[in-house]
This record gives sequence, structure tokens and C-alpha cells, in this order.
Amino acid sequence: MLQIKHVSFTYPQLSKPTLSNLSLNVGNNEIVALVGPSGSGKSTLLKIASGLLNVDNGEVNLNNVHVNGPSEQLVAGHPKIKMIHQDFNLFPKVSVFDNIEFHLRHLVDKQKNRRINEMLKLCKLEKLKDKKPYELSGGEKQRLAIAKTLADEPLLLLMDEPFTALDNILKGDIMDDIFEIIDKTGISTLFVTHDTKDAVSYGHRVLVMKNGKIISNASPEKSYQQPKNKFVAAFFGNANIVPASLAHLLNINIDSTADILIRYENIYEMENGFEATVLDSRYLGFCYENKIKVADQITLKMWTSEKATNTIRIQIGSFWEL
Ligand code: ADP
Ligand code: MG
Repeated sequence: MLQIKHVSFTYPQLSKPTLSNLSLNVGNNEIVALVGPSGSGKSTLLKIASGLLNVDNGEVNLNNVHVNGPSEQLVAGHPKIKMIHQDFNLFPKVSVFDNIEFHLRHLVDKQKNRRINEMLKLCKLEKLKDKKPYELSGGEKQRLAIAKTLADEPLLLLMDEPFTALDNILKGDIMDDIFEIIDKTGISTLFVTHDTKDAVSYGHRVLVMKNGKIISNASPEKSYQQPKNKFVAAFFGNANIVPASLAHLLNINIDSTADILIRYENIYEMENGFEATVLDSRYLGFCYENKIKVADQITLKMWTSEKATNTIRIQIGSFWEL
């Protein structure tokens, strides 16, 4: 489907490359999440994928056909690759129906109406088809944006943090809706998010980008539970990283010299466990997050359902050697 091979790219006004020798694939019907710190090159990569920037080196293919950069064609962009941004690109003065129709002008009426009705149904907009965008809620606007985008049956959907501006309650519902639509159509999707929780819950596969390179490419479970290195471990959150030399203090016996990752949720309160001093116990809503110290040498974080005070007895569950 989408193949990016050994791509390098430097903005003319910058001295260092923003993408260097970067390769990635998105398979048929696959949803790939792309995360990474701000400035790591995620948006640039999506622009390269959609033919909006010329690569310095390397190749971008869609179904084995070269994707032209802007210097290779009159109108920048690829007709079968669609991008959704934060602003929904809706036409404010026309109805929901007409907003969807815009991308189908090349079809004859019968085909066009069939397709618009399919999209209205898929995106649960049937009852709203005569409304104007300003009469829609945030979630409905988002569904209209995706209906417009998918109407013309693109081969690849790219999303550049379209959910960032939404508040948390709305965001969960809207993302569920959007990914349900994506799942039903089976469209190949590459989506950027700065939220690793979204990446692991909606992506079939997760890519982590840092300084213009893909540094991790794994299933959601592997990305979180068995990260490739310290950076990836910390990036997904809830990470205690303990040097191998101190592992024995936690009753962990390993031969290697690798650092050890222990996620907060893998430290349990246990009556016959070893003792730790509670330094701090902070309420998070769904639990207390405790900062604890073991053997005066290791500071860890762990979660408990009750507020912890003074000392606590703990045991380490699963861990991962980095
Ligand atoms: P991300 O989306 O991961 O935050 P971007 O791809 O937007 O990262 O940016 C990567 C780097 O390229 C940053 O250092 C940014 O300042 C720079 N950059 C982005 N767009 C441009 C541009 N149009 N011109 C020059 N530099 C840019
Ligand atoms: Mg960006």
C-alpha cells in the first residue's frame, strides 16, 4: 500500500535534515499510529507521504506507483491520498449533503446520490443532511469531515492530530466514532497523535519518531510492554527505570547489565512483600500515585486504590529488560 523508502528531507532554510533515511510501510486495511515529541518531523512526514513536499532522496510509492512531489506535477498532492487536519475544511454556507457532494462532482447524479447516501449512513448523518455546519456539534462536524474525506474512496487516509483541540469527554466519543468508520471502510490509515494512549488504543501498529527517524515499530502491546529502549519506555509513560546493579534490591535476579523497566501498575501491595517508604501519595482520580523509596536507594512510583502513608509492603510483578 504506502511505502516510504529511505527518504531524506531538509527544509531549504534549515541546515540539518528534518527526515533522514526514513522508511515505513502502511499495509492494506492497516491503521498505523505515529507518535513522537513535538518537532520530531511527524507533520513533515505526512506531507511527504501525500506528495506535498519533494524528497531530497528516497522514494514514496502508493500501491507500487510513484507518488509525485509538487515539482513533478501541476497540482500538488495525490488524488487518492486524503488528509484530515484540525480545522475540518467544511464549507460553512452549504448543507451537510452538499458538503459531501463537493468531492463527487465528477460522478453522474445517480452514482453521486448513492454514494452520498452511503456516506450519510456510515457517518450517522442521515437526519442532519439538510443542516449547515454551524448547526452541528463538534462530533457531528468531525463526522462530516470524515464523510467528505472518504466520499471519493481514497486509498490512504492521513490524519495530523485532528483530535487535539477536543476536550477529553468529547474526544473519546469522537475518536470511537471516527475509528469505527475507518474500520468499516477498511481504509489504510496513518494517523499522528501526541497522545500515546490514543496510539496504542486505535493503532494496529505504532511507530515512534525521534529526530527525523523511526526508532520503534511494533504492535501496541509490544510498544508499551516491551519497548526498544529507555526513550520509548519513558515516552509511553508510567515508567520506572532501574539500573541492573540495583535490581537485587527489588528481588529481581537477572544476569544482564540492562536497565529494567517496571511499569507503575506492575508494583503491587503485598503483605509479605518487602518494605518501602512512602514519600508522597497523590490522588489521580482513578487511583493514588505513590512515590516510594526502597532500601534508601531506589525511588519508584506505583498505584494504589487507597492513600498510602508511612511505609508500604510491595512486590514487583512483570518487568522488562531494556
Ligand atoms: P512535528 O509534527 O513532529 O511536531 P514538524 O514536521 O512540524 O514536527 O517539524 C519538524 C521540524 O521541521 C521542526 O524543527 C520544525 O521547526 C521544522 N519545520 C516544520 N515546518 C517547517 C517549514 N515550513 N519550514 C522550515 N522548517 C520547518
Ligand atoms: Mg505536527
